[in-house]
Amino acid sequence: MKSSGSAPRRITILGSTGSIGCSTIDLVERNPGVYEIEALTAHSNVEKLAAQARLFRPRLVVIGDETLYGALKEALAGTNIAVAAGKDALVEAATLPADWVMSAIVGAAGLAPTLAAVRRGAVVALANKESLVCAGDLVMAEVERAGATLLPVDSEHNAIFQVFDFDRVESVERLILTASGGPFRTLARSDMEKVTPEQAVAHPNWSMGAKISVDSATMMNKGLEVIEAAHLFPVPEARIEVLVHPQSVIHSMVAYVDGSVLAQLGSPDMRTPIAYALGWPKRMAAPSARLDLAALGTLSFEAPDPERFPALRLARQALQTGGAAPTVLNAANEVAVAGFLARRIGFLDIARIVEETMDRAVAVRLSSLDDVHAADAEARRIASDLVASAG
Ligand code: NAD
Ligand code: MG
Repeated sequence: MKSSGSAPRRITILGSTGSIGCSTIDLVERNPGVYEIEALTAHSNVEKLAAQARLFRPRLVVIGDETLYGALKEALAGTNIAVAAGKDALVEAATLPADWVMSAIVGAAGLAPTLAAVRRGAVVALANKESLVCAGDLVMAEVERAGATLLPVDSEHNAIFQVFDFDRVESVERLILTASGGPFRTLARSDMEKVTPEQAVAHPNWSMGAKISVDSATMMNKGLEVIEAAHLFPVPEARIEVLVHPQSVIHSMVAYVDGSVLAQLGSPDMRTPIAYALGWPKRMAAPSARLDLAALGTLSFEAPDPERFPALRLARQALQTGGAAPTVLNAANEVAVAGFLARRIGFLDIARIVEETMDRAVAVRLSSLDDVHAADAEARRIASDLVASAG
């Protein structure tokens, strides 16, 4: 609820037409007068972006795909809302003086705009885990330097953020990231060969964008999240565990030295972690279904299977190697997932191509954003060749 007399909070949503973007818009819409939108961005969905813009009247609207500039301009004719297109314009959107920025672009494409918001010391709600995977040290150094606030939106990291004792870090023994196991949790490896993009994106618990849905099916998503957690929390990789929990009710846990384990629970609806970040440091109401544990009856747990889900091992290996290895892992995965969604490669090719790209890419240290871009581009070249030769 709006506190009396306070000015509306100015917010920007990067990736406003996506799954996370639309859930954020939903919360904003439920709280009229509380938020004013500074900027909205999308990649190619002109229609949805224009509809959001007409509703919220932001200062700037950006379409990532430059060829769609004319279409967006036309769709917003007569509104006096500024329209721009292209990568630099995405950065410009993040640079406008919003108090709070939702970073919900998918993939490494979110890195530059996320960094721009971080660099001006904003409160950044981070859904775009790939920016931490491909440039975690750089992003976290900029957060520190600029005094920015990073609020994790990824449900696992948001859960940990809520139960992590930042004042007594030494008392934390382990992080336990829960994983649903995805749609192929119980499928034999031999049957994974033939699964289709439609089957892979049909997640049992969460409704999400296509890329993260495929990542959940390979469990690369959990691998990316181990890397994300290692940057967000002062806990080394060896003490970040993954636990399969098919019901997605416990979103993650923190284990303490005295044997206590603190968990955050909720129904699988991203509007809860988004509301946590949007309301922060207060709590705001969210319409997510309330947990009915008696109706659920049972929560179950199992260890992840490294044979059927090799992506988890690859992500841990990348984190241990450090330098550009996670950048390479992420870029190769983006290319392979796009190849799978386009039916150019099979499901099991995804992890194979990531592993081969990691073997072939030259190991470099990352000391600047240019280094990140170079490592990312090299990995994309290698992985694209592997996709082409697999097809
Ligand atoms: P999505 O595909 O539904 O939406 C992605 C958004 O980014 C869209 O607005 C799209 O227009 C924009 N976009 C895509 N490519 C772009 C590019 N090259 N340049 C600029 N903009 C581009 O994805 P999503 O499921 O909303 O996920 C967004 C991010 O949040 C991802 O990093 C994902 O891992 C993370 N995340 C999502 C969920 C979820 O439940 N959907 C949960 C946890 C984390
Ligand atoms: Mg997650």
